[in-house]
Amino acid sequence: MKHLLVACWFALTAIVRAATPTTAPNIVFIFSDDHAYQAISAYGDGRKLIETPNIDRLAKQGMRLDRCLVTNSICGPSRATILTGKYNHLNGFVNNSNSTFDGTQVTFPKLLQKAGYQTAIVGKWHLGSDPTGFDFWQILPAQGIYYNPPMIKMGQRVTVPGYVTDIVGDVSIDWLKQRDKTKPFLLMSQHKAPHREWAPALRHLGFDGDRVYPEPATLFDDYAGRGIAVRDQDMTLEKTFTDRDAKLAVPPGLTAEQRVAWDAYYEPRNAKFRAANLTGKDLVRWRYQRYMHDYLATVKAVDENVGRLLDYLEKEGLMENTIVVYSSDQGFFLGEHGWFDKRWIFEESVRTPLIVRWPGVTKAGSASPALVSNLDFAQTFLDAAGLPSPTEMQGRSLRPILAGKAPADWRTAFYYQYFEYPAPHRVRPHYGVITDRYKLVRYFGTGEDYTELYDREKDPNEMKSMWGDPAYAATTADLEKQLARLRTELKVPETVPARWLGNAGAGGGKKKAAPTAP
Ligand code: CA
Repeated sequence: MKHLLVACWFALTAIVRAATPTTAPNIVFIFSDDHAYQAISAYGDGRKLIETPNIDRLAKQGMRLDRCLVTNSICGPSRATILTGKYNHLNGFVNNSNSTFDGTQVTFPKLLQKAGYQTAIVGKWHLGSDPTGFDFWQILPAQGIYYNPPMIKMGQRVTVPGYVTDIVGDVSIDWLKQRDKTKPFLLMSQHKAPHREWAPALRHLGFDGDRVYPEPATLFDDYAGRGIAVRDQDMTLEKTFTDRDAKLAVPPGLTAEQRVAWDAYYEPRNAKFRAANLTGKDLVRWRYQRYMHDYLATVKAVDENVGRLLDYLEKEGLMENTIVVYSSDQGFFLGEHGWFDKRWIFEESVRTPLIVRWPGVTKAGSASPALVSNLDFAQTFLDAAGLPSPTEMQGRSLRPILAGKAPADWRTAFYYQYFEYPAPHRVRPHYGVITDRYKLVRYFGTGEDYTELYDREKDPNEMKSMWGDPAYAATTADLEKQLARLRTELKVPETVPARWLGNAGAGGGKKKAAPTAP
């Protein structure tokens, strides 16, 4: 009898193991780099910067998450958090300057692979070590370049002709075509665009016909009302924007023939700019317009490639059992506070787009204001596959939120921490707590520690710290309590090793910044 029971148990286990993969949903994770929600028409910020019909199509068929916050607003750390479901102080990838991802640690692609999923990652990786947990990988080395980029395919260097965003789309679809159709799959299709230096596909030069873009209200922020950190940064259109950012210098990788098309668009406009000899606010305004043209043109190609991938899934009849996600590694400043780049706890940077179409779970055209995070992605995908999450993961499955049924005990406060300093961009290390309405921010690591408090209800552009204002005493005390609780729960170390600050830690501040921001 006992033997029979054991035999039955083994048979049942085998059936469950075999059955789980065939019924489990596929996952297509479309991920871009530095894509601001302001530059997605399903979100937008009132400037109506661009139409993104294909990303919008996903939003119309699924759910738009209106407050998805990242744990640390830069490329590598965001990716490490997504893979591990853990904060950077635990997954070890704290900055882009001297971190290397420990590929032996537990990640959600590894767990899916072990459960019978076919797994692939294509495009931007940016974690130093080779990808692990993927049956197929073809990645850009480091940041990658826009035109005719070198790539690393399963450890072998290849050079692929074409425009990087189209190549990521092509390789993603090619992998889907050759997959084993009897197994579920995870495809991470990860674009370089719209990362600096925002080099458009040649077909998109002048795509919006020299449109003059509305300026953000804070383009000429004077940085009053806040501490030294916002004044001391190095990420302004006024002072930091390079000739390469402005396309006054040519980006790498163009063929001679492509260069002709590139020059035909930029050269007459650059000649006009040089002749005008702009200074002060006029120069900032010109740079903002050039920045928007190029940034949005790279978004155009991302949107087209989202469309190609959706078309393929539809044509193959895969949409009914495939979860499709669109997200970015963080938000981005599109001229707000006079800035480009990210890094800050401020809204444009810390908030990233997240759109999810999950058949049977998300309602078409729905939206959620819930405080969610890239910390939650790993556990969401494991949940979708019917797999338990390792207890060390620090997020929570988004399934109830996506189903429109936010649990009563869903988080109302979120912990943020940024380390990398001083290069690039001299944004001072800070951590803080974010709620629906407030942000309490503590700057650390430079010998000039101080705290700020923002009330987004009264000050949506985060222009004035209310720290120390007696009217906010009770709020401050509550936020301090929440911050302390989160730091304990999330196992945040009391003090941070100097090397976590990256450049400062590695070379005592003497190491020169890389020319391109990570
Ligand atoms: Ca990024």
